[in-house]
Amino acid sequence: MSILVTRSSIASLDEYIEEIKPIFESKWLTNMGPIYKKLQHQLIDYLEVPYLSLFVNGHMALEMAIQAMEFPKGSEIITTPYTFVSTTHAITRNELVPVFCDINREDYTMDPSKIESLITEKTVAILPVHVYGNLCDVEAIQKIADKHNLKVIYDAAHAFGTKFKGITAGNFGDMSMFSFHATKVFNTIEGGAISFKDDNYRVRLHELKNFGIHSEDQINNIGGNAKLDEFRAAMGICNLRHLEDNIQLRKKVADRYDTYLMKAPGIKLMQLREGVTKNYAYYPVYVDSEKFGMNRDDLYNELKKNDIYARRYFYPATNDLDCYTRVYGKSKTPVAHDVSKNILTLPMYADLSLEDVDRICQIILNVAKV
Ligand SMILES: *Cc1c(COP(=O)(O)O)cnc(C)c1O
Repeated sequence: MSILVTRSSIASLDEYIEEIKPIFESKWLTNMGPIYKKLQHQLIDYLEVPYLSLFVNGHMALEMAIQAMEFPKGSEIITTPYTFVSTTHAITRNELVPVFCDINREDYTMDPSKIESLITEKTVAILPVHVYGNLCDVEAIQKIADKHNLKVIYDAAHAFGTKFKGITAGNFGDMSMFSFHATKVFNTIEGGAISFKDDNYRVRLHELKNFGIHSEDQINNIGGNAKLDEFRAAMGICNLRHLEDNIQLRKKVADRYDTYLMKAPGIKLMQLREGVTKNYAYYPVYVDSEKFGMNRDDLYNELKKNDIYARRYFYPATNDLDCYTRVYGKSKTPVAHDVSKNILTLPMYADLSLEDVDRICQIILNVAKV
């Protein structure tokens, strides 16, 4: 049987049926109903954040988080090209300009030492990504933001449940976006959220995701439709119950990979930033083709021949995509380009068997130079 890079964790059908039963009685299917509110409060507790707004997906959450800040058209946002396209699209679709900052070689998050030279009088915000659940250097980034009076919005799509020095992702910067897509550590099938500190964003985000409707005859904002419905919220409530168990299962998978790959020649594992606790969302390996004896793409194909589907995630870097080079040309982020050409994320999910991990690692070690 083929092994895909990920497989969704979902609660049992019985559990889900129990949770959606009230919907069939109330007929309240969407528009911030009781199940939406129940999940919202459970997530506020779990993430230990002051405020949280639920969305139909992570991308729309990020788009509306940026929109809620009401930056002038054409303003610049310093961001990372080492991310899923959604991050860069969310900036551009708000008619703002992404300015690409390079990343750290060891942990793939934004390199704070490269931020300040990119700041111009048009810069309004920094939008870093907690890549693979590894939290950014949130202290250094906040310091720069405070000094230059910039907003900070984190793409925390990978970082659900991770902490830095005991503080959960979702408490850093002005806002954080979480994705609850089927492939993420915690899912609501499709879904997402924004956590934030400033009470002023509460009403604005609520209105933006509901067409900007303030009251029956008053429309305050040019909003869209990005509401999380009751059925997906119910799935979230079920899945949240099993989250800790699933993270423990992921940890077992990661530990098993580590035992094989820690010392494998030419395979570099992601360095966890100090003080960060993991959620084991992904298992990326950097393939140093000279030392390993094979490049990333050949290893990807070798695994594929064995019915194992790793992913070149993130490749290409977003500033190398046609839709961006057409507008901004090539940008100089050498580390991000290098990592994206040599990274491979190996299969990682809660019910991946350790025997399968053994098999994957043996294939990798067999082709490695010894
Ligand atoms: C998944 C993801 C998104 C988008 O989230 P969706 O819920 O799929 O819309 C954005 N950024 C990153 C880094 C992601 O991994």
